[in-house]
Amino acid sequence: MSTKKSKSLFKKAQTLISGGVNSPVRAFKAVGGDPLFISHAKGSKLTDVDGNSYIDYVLSWGPLILGHAPKKVIEAVTEAAAKGTSFGAPNPYEVTLAELIVAAYPSMDKVRFVNSGTEATMSAIRVARGFTKRDKIIKFEGCYHGHADGLLAKAGSGAATLGVPTSPGVPQSYAMNTITVPFNDITALKNVIEKEGENIACLILEPIVGNIGCVIPRDGFLAEIRELTQKHGIVLIFDEVMTGFRAAYGGAQELFNIKPDMTCLGKVIGGGLPVGAYGGKREIMSLISPEGPVYQAGTLSGNPVAMSAGIATLNIIRKSGFYEKLNETAKTLEYGLNDAAKKANSKVKIYRVGSMMCQYFTDKEVIDWPTAASCDTQKFANYFRGMLTGGIYLPPSQFEAFFLSAAHKKIDIERTVNMSYKVLKSIR
Ligand SMILES: *Cc1c(COP(=O)(O)O)cnc(C)c1O
Repeated sequence: MSTKKSKSLFKKAQTLISGGVNSPVRAFKAVGGDPLFISHAKGSKLTDVDGNSYIDYVLSWGPLILGHAPKKVIEAVTEAAAKGTSFGAPNPYEVTLAELIVAAYPSMDKVRFVNSGTEATMSAIRVARGFTKRDKIIKFEGCYHGHADGLLAKAGSGAATLGVPTSPGVPQSYAMNTITVPFNDITALKNVIEKEGENIACLILEPIVGNIGCVIPRDGFLAEIRELTQKHGIVLIFDEVMTGFRAAYGGAQELFNIKPDMTCLGKVIGGGLPVGAYGGKREIMSLISPEGPVYQAGTLSGNPVAMSAGIATLNIIRKSGFYEKLNETAKTLEYGLNDAAKKANSKVKIYRVGSMMCQYFTDKEVIDWPTAASCDTQKFANYFRGMLTGGIYLPPSQFEAFFLSAAHKKIDIERTVNMSYKVLKSIR
């Protein structure tokens, strides 16, 4: 397998683009080696600029639930683009996509489109602060909500502490308004809310934590959060940028039957184009400009090409049986990977919700950030490189979920499981 062209492109990119990439994990730092430059992709496969093909489980980090370049989506995008790529004025696609989203998420009376998940969470929090007239927010350790300043705060282990910025460039004064609590720890959350309840505008969380792999909420955890936030007038925001239309059509909130006050979406709703959205209760959403005083805007928001990709995607995945079939494929992969690990005498823990999953290199249960962080990341790195050489493209980090698409076929799963066994044996 030659990766000469990728190597040479990466060398040049590093002189022109910070780190050679436009989003950090793409650089393969956690697993070693140089990133691959992709030339094209179709269905379940990626092809790099040197002509090597891979079965793709990254799927652009989640959006591509139909796989790469699905015919219907490409047709819709092409048709929309030919009619003009942006108007800076309302277009009919926005109304259609909003209607599809509001129908799928009963907790959302209204929605606003933005261009990324980061924008969605950032804006939702602004509205929640405007609504409650409070400044502080609570987030959970290990949950990722995009790269807005106040959301990069991540506290150390143990009980809730005042936010310390994890990234230089985030003023301490921003981070001070972010309180971080361990995921799956209702007692820690209760303590914070009892002390600070009146100052807290919102609690934001990933109901299934996909940004440290795939951490599942304990039985009753989300219901207790719902009750606590309601009692203290705290706006509950589900960040379903990853889980929306992924964990289920109606997201994690449908799966766990919880109604948050606000929801953030992204990834799948853009069908591979840059789209984010936030929405929620009518009385909260009516605060947004021009209906209300909270300002939020976007030159390209509701972009007709991006909206049409979202509409085409949702129109396929909302058909009955879509998720059953997709999740069945994911289950086959989960079982296959577990068997392969057993046969190779390798210690792994696999967690899966629908078509998102993570294979942790550990023999302990993973329930939060510290338990995820204690996995054998060196072993994962070796595994990643072995799989890549074998034609399987996994996320280049132990702490990222991998995804399946409707384009993944039985033969892809078989190849992946066989390769997994081979690689696990060789790295033992
Ligand atoms: C991907 C993601 C984001 C950020 O979305 P971008 O489009 O990358 O800005 C926010 N929250 C969650 C849960 C995500 O998975």
